[in-house]
Amino acid sequence: MRLILLGPPGVGKGTVAKKLQEEFKLPVISTGVILREEISKKTELGQKVKEIMGRGDLVPDNIILEIIKERIKRKDCESGYIFDGFPRNVEQAKSLEKVNKELNEHINYVFYFELPFNQIIDRLTSRRVCKKCGTNYNLSFNPPKKDNVCDLCGGELYQREDDKEETIKNRLQVYIKQTLPLKKYYQEKKLLAIVNANTSREAFLEIKNILKKELQK
Ligand code: AMP
Repeated sequence: MRLILLGPPGVGKGTVAKKLQEEFKLPVISTGVILREEISKKTELGQKVKEIMGRGDLVPDNIILEIIKERIKRKDCESGYIFDGFPRNVEQAKSLEKVNKELNEHINYVFYFELPFNQIIDRLTSRRVCKKCGTNYNLSFNPPKKDNVCDLCGGELYQREDDKEETIKNRLQVYIKQTLPLKKYYQEKKLLAIVNANTSREAFLEIKNILKKELQK
C-alpha cells in the first residue's frame, strides 16, 4: 500500500502517519522530518536548506527528489510506504509518477486532510515537538502531562522555527499557491479521498476504515 497524506501544515498529517505506521506496518517518509534531521546534524544539505525552511519556502524539487528516490528504494519500502509532506507541488507529483513507473509500482491513495484555515493557524502556533522522538503535542488540545517534557520518551519539547507567527503566513501562502493544486490533480486521477481533520483520531479512523475495506477486496 502506497499512500500520500496531503493537506495544509498543522492539520495532523504527521500524527496520523505515525498511527497508520503502527496499524499497517508501513514506513513513514516525511520530507520535513528528514530535512530537519539534516539541519540538526549540520550536514552540507542541512546548511543548504536551513534558511529556506526558516522562511517557510519550499526546498528545490531536485533536492527533494534525490531524497525520495534513495528512500523508496530501501528494503523497508518494498510493500509500501506513507508519504507525509511529499509531494508538495505538481512537478514533484509528476516526478514521483516517473520514479514509481521505473520501480513498477503506483500510489494507491491520496488522503486530503480538510480543516478550516482559521483553525490551522491556532494549531501551528500551539504545536510543540519532542526534540528526541519527534512526537507532536498541542498546547491547547493535546498538551504533554508535564510542561515541556515528552510523555513518551522524556525528551525536551520545542517550537519549530517555522511554527512562529511570522513564518506561518508565508507557509500558508506557499501552500495555497503550490500544494493545493495537487488536490484537483489527484481528484482527476481518482486517487483522492477527503478526510475530516477536525481531530487526528477521527482522521486516522476514517483512513483506517477505507484501507481495511481496500485490503479485504
Ligand atoms: P513540514 O514538516 O512538512 O511542514 O515541512 C517543513 C518545511 O520543509 C517546509 O516548509 C519546506 O521548507 C520543507 N519541505 C518539506 N517537504 C518538502 C517538499 N516535499 N518539497 C519542498 N520543501 C519541503
